[in-house]
Amino acid sequence: MPIDLSHEPRVEELARRTARFVREVVVPEEERYGGVAAVGGEELRGRLQAAAKQAGLFAPHVAPEYGGHGLDMRGRAAVFEEAGWSLFGPLALNIAAPDEGNMHLLEAVATHPQREHYLRPLAQGEVRSCFAMTEPAPGAGSDPAALSTRATKVAGGWRIDGRKWFITGADGAAFAICMARTSGEPGDRGGATMFLVDVDNPGMKIIRHIDTLDESLFGGHCEMVFDDCVVSDDAVLGEVDKGYDYAQVRLGPARMTHCMRWLGIARRAQEIALARASERELFGSRLGDLGMVQGMIADSEIDIAAARALTLQACWELDHGRSAAQSTAIAKAFTAEAVWRVVDRALQVCGSLGVSGDVLLGRFLREVRPFRIYDGPTETHRWAIARRALRGSRAHGNVT
Ligand SMILES: Cc1cc2nc3c(=O)[nH]c(=O)nc-3n(C[C@H](O)[C@H](O)[C@H](O)COP(=O)(O)OP(=O)(O)OC[C@H]3O[C@@H](n4cnc5c(N)ncnc54)[C@H](O)[C@@H]3O)c2cc1C
Repeated sequence: MPIDLSHEPRVEELARRTARFVREVVVPEEERYGGVAAVGGEELRGRLQAAAKQAGLFAPHVAPEYGGHGLDMRGRAAVFEEAGWSLFGPLALNIAAPDEGNMHLLEAVATHPQREHYLRPLAQGEVRSCFAMTEPAPGAGSDPAALSTRATKVAGGWRIDGRKWFITGADGAAFAICMARTSGEPGDRGGATMFLVDVDNPGMKIIRHIDTLDESLFGGHCEMVFDDCVVSDDAVLGEVDKGYDYAQVRLGPARMTHCMRWLGIARRAQEIALARASERELFGSRLGDLGMVQGMIADSEIDIAAARALTLQACWELDHGRSAAQSTAIAKAFTAEAVWRVVDRALQVCGSLGVSGDVLLGRFLREVRPFRIYDGPTETHRWAIARRALRGSRAHGNVT
């Protein structure tokens, strides 16, 4: 089947309006707060989201019945990249991690009452959420099968016990989607279940904010303890023991939306580098006339174009109901590294200006670095990509 990667006119129009909104309304706020939304707090979030609602740009990924535009993955690619031009753009449109991925998961898996209770206010920006899967060693990280947080059946519900860390957005979230083991032992590939845990549950506690390189995601990255955390049977998201299947429902698309958003920042960094290369004079010529600088600029153009193409191809597969395991892994591994390279080159082209607070490149560099680790470190994806390739080769009986 030929792959059509063009966008419908309504998507192009939404992307154009998003680009204008982000430049005119969002970037001035980002510069005012040095790219750290937490400094502006809930007041800033409310103000940005009210402006996005008024501009008709809010929650583009959510179904119209929950107040969104119902974009498919390819449509999201066009709009999210424009929102990602600013660190605050995704927050304004309510498409920031982890809420955006949680909305996708709830739309796909939750019951009608769960969607009304959790998805509707989340889609409206009235509340925030978090996704609690990763655990301190020896628990779940790159290897999700190591999951050791346990949920034990009790009368009318479940009791969750365990420890999670690096849970983005936990501070201030109205609820967590917590992944816990309901059968088997750490190391087993099945036996996980997702639970919706309300913030007022006395068994769920944030014990610290982890001090990290990046600071732009709202609500920080927290360590949490689930201690005698009792939830009702209604708190099960989907079916018991199907947690790993649902994680795939969330993680494939969530990896792609991270790529889309960070591609926006890569383009912005490249714009800053291009402006500097056009203006700065040295050694009797413009910076941009020097071959080694042209090489950096060209390599960044190639990285951006290739990352976008790989992301779109994976989105096309997801939109056509395919598993897209290989294409999302390829797109994620490539884009995370490419975005890092683009921002690093832009900073190099700008010289000392690049590391100063006069441009936001230093902030961008800090923000994009963890993307090479979360949603699967590059090495985990490369390992999985190679194993699938080897399996495919064996299945086709290829010999040299
Ligand atoms: C900023 C940030 C935000 C996060 N937000 C969340 C969140 O909201 N919710 C959540 O549940 N988790 C979150 N995480 C956790 C993230 O998903 C994990 O960090 C990630 O899955 C890697 O797990 P780990 O950190 O335990 O690293 P480990 O599993 O300890 O891996 C360490 C390193 O081992 C190498 N490695 C891994 N696999 C292989 C392999 N197959 N072959 C060779 N080398 C390999 C890689 O270099 C990797 O970086 C976040 C992490 C960060 C940094």
